[in-house]
Amino acid sequence: MRSLSLLSVLLFAFGASPLAAAPARGLDIHFIDTEGGAATLIVTPAGESVLIDCGNPGARDAERIHKAATAAGLDAIDHLIITHWHSDHYGGASRLAKLMPIRHFYDRGIPEKLDEDPKNFPLLIEAYREASKGKSKALKAGDVVTLKQTEGAPEVRLFCLCSCGEVIPDKPGAEKNPIAKDHKPQPIDKTDNARSLGFLLSYGGFRFLDLGDLTWNVEYKLIHPSDKIGPVDVYQVTHHGLNNSNNPVLIRTVRPRVAIYNNGARKGCHPAVTATLRRIDGLKAIYQMHRNLTVGAQENTDPDYIANPDEKCRGESIRLAVAADGKNYTVTVGSKGRPHRYETRAAATKDGL
Ligand SMILES: [Zn+2]
Repeated sequence: MRSLSLLSVLLFAFGASPLAAAPARGLDIHFIDTEGGAATLIVTPAGESVLIDCGNPGARDAERIHKAATAAGLDAIDHLIITHWHSDHYGGASRLAKLMPIRHFYDRGIPEKLDEDPKNFPLLIEAYREASKGKSKALKAGDVVTLKQTEGAPEVRLFCLCSCGEVIPDKPGAEKNPIAKDHKPQPIDKTDNARSLGFLLSYGGFRFLDLGDLTWNVEYKLIHPSDKIGPVDVYQVTHHGLNNSNNPVLIRTVRPRVAIYNNGARKGCHPAVTATLRRIDGLKAIYQMHRNLTVGAQENTDPDYIANPDEKCRGESIRLAVAADGKNYTVTVGSKGRPHRYETRAAATKDGL
């Protein structure tokens, strides 16, 4: 007792609390396998959790998310964000809400109906309304999701770049993006993909892009006439890597260092998207949630960078850990992988971003 009080006095005298002695934690991102759906779990240095999308309806995806969240020390999801109303993104919400509390819900706004899914939408949206107790918040381009900050740590910021097909405005006088002239328009996408919420998550110098299932022509709006995103460290390959998303003019503009596919064994990870990524100067690695069984070895990434090589998988995830100072990060594939380490762009270049 006596030594403890002496320690307390000393800590008090030096202006430190016993907590300050613990090593500072950084920012973690868990890419959870939902077999062609999306579930990206972010845990901030303050221990706050943000889940962007929550997989398919049924037990499997909700249970995998719950397991990953529990392993990350979470007893609740603080913020659940649904990028758009396709069942591989919001179908797991009601089941997950039964497994653990979800404190705040965000989406692009709830439509009256969804033309491309008239059968499932009414049931699934009812379950979502029930889980969220009708209190979800609609996000629009330019909104920031308020997150707790940690004293002495870099700022963690989750910024909404697009919603309902609208993107953040160009800054007055912003330079024109020369890459945008290579855009080849595609027919207008009338599905909800085009209305996806899209986010830029930053932590110090680290920048991560998650655009949900945003499609081609709206991707173009994000980088035309000026680039409204800037270079990123890590790119969650949009729309599971389907080729009606991942407009090369966007990828060439944001020029990621690391790309992570949340693909399924037979969904996404399109060879044309992989080809676009491989042409990016400075790209260090491509990670895949699943081996793409529909193409050969050449069109898949290195086997060490694939979390689930077989169709009958164990739902292995990909984990990204950003150092407390935001200057570097590691990516680890599955439960047995070894961490691959990368410097953030801001730390690697003299002129920052
Ligand atoms: Zn999807």
